[in-house]
Amino acid sequence: MTEIIIENMQDLSDKDRFVFSVGCAVCGKHWISTPVSFSKAGETISENEKEIVYTALYQHEKQIAAVKAVKEAKINLNFCPVCKTLVCDSCFMICDDIDMCADCARVLKVAGEPVDA
Ligand SMILES: [Zn+2]
Ligand SMILES: [Zn+2]
Repeated sequence: MTEIIIENMQDLSDKDRFVFSVGCAVCGKHWISTPVSFSKAGETISENEKEIVYTALYQHEKQIAAVKAVKEAKINLNFCPVCKTLVCDSCFMICDDIDMCADCARVLKVAGEPVDA
């Protein structure tokens, strides 16, 4: 599931904070990760040398934030084992044999209850 999250994750970060989003494959609703502030947010940089450090630090912190966002996405999104997509709780059905997204449940004519009923 980690790979598919990374593949579908959009980077909405700006210079002050790191935010990522993943869209539901069924309804298109975007799940947004909890924003993480950049430790140097709001600080101004003047010298060239410092900018390199600043950029490196930004990239480093962004990587950590992305890993955290993936973990968070795993808890908040569902992976459909049939069509291999990520869907939100409203679009994920608890079925008798195997849980799947609402689209697959409809196509396969499987009855189920949404996670977020
Ligand atoms: Zn959805
Ligand atoms: Zn599906």
